[in-house]
Amino acid sequence: MTLKLFDTHAHFDLEDFDTDRDSLIERCRVGHFPQDVLDFLEKHHAPVPDARVAAAIDPGVSVERSRLAVSLARRYPWIRAAAAIHPNYTADTTEEDFRQIELLAELNQTAAIGETGLDRHWDASPIETQIHWFSRHIELAGRVHKPLIIHCREAIDDLLTVLRQKAGHPFTGTIHSFSEGPKEAEELLAMGFHLGFTGSVTYTQKKFAPLWEAAKRVPDERLLIETDSPFLVPHPLRGKLRRNEPLMTLYVARRLAELRDTTVEHIVTVTAQNARRLFAMEV
Ligand SMILES: [Zn+2]
Repeated sequence: MTLKLFDTHAHFDLEDFDTDRDSLIERCRVGHFPQDVLDFLEKHHAPVPDARVAAAIDPGVSVERSRLAVSLARRYPWIRAAAAIHPNYTADTTEEDFRQIELLAELNQTAAIGETGLDRHWDASPIETQIHWFSRHIELAGRVHKPLIIHCREAIDDLLTVLRQKAGHPFTGTIHSFSEGPKEAEELLAMGFHLGFTGSVTYTQKKFAPLWEAAKRVPDERLLIETDSPFLVPHPLRGKLRRNEPLMTLYVARRLAELRDTTVEHIVTVTAQNARRLFAMEV
């Protein structure tokens, strides 16, 4: 049985894919793994997986990138865009920029508002500015009745503070590349969020142990898989692939199956169902 993957976070619009974007998208769609992966599998006498990408979400990080994501969604009906200004790009954001995001948010090709959120790792924008625009994106998602795609890097306490103040009704959305422990997972799940797992959950260093524990406990119906392509190449391909791509969600699904003591087929099926429901997609 062919595994039909739903990658809920793939930045097809980024420069990393400028030279071969359309051929890569077609290749994902039919399930042709990149040569680097085929070489790796052959070297380890492992069979080529029977998997393809059935659907994907391309989240914008700026007005320009959100527009590109929308244009890709126009070309490929199985890809949907998300529109937002990423927290790292909020330092110079103007009301006019946000007005453009609001217009993109209304389109049929736009399935979600994201990625928005908070990031203290790069410190590219003052945290008060990030919080301001994060709140504006949360309100926008409420107005257009679309789910949120939330980025959170080294800012979980601030993120939870903002969300607690906004609570009162359950949220619709996902915490993308979830990288916290079981306690944070529990609170975000109680707020209504799905949790999206990336290559991070496949990494073998001990510091990821709280994340593995969280991944064991998320209920089936709130679980999503994603790549964050071109970033976060999963283990054991990390360092062997020059960029990540949506077929690699298979490796995330395999790791979740191992942690949750179930089959990869089960993980792929439930995560695709969840994503279709969350993003209102029929593909
Ligand atoms: Zn991203």
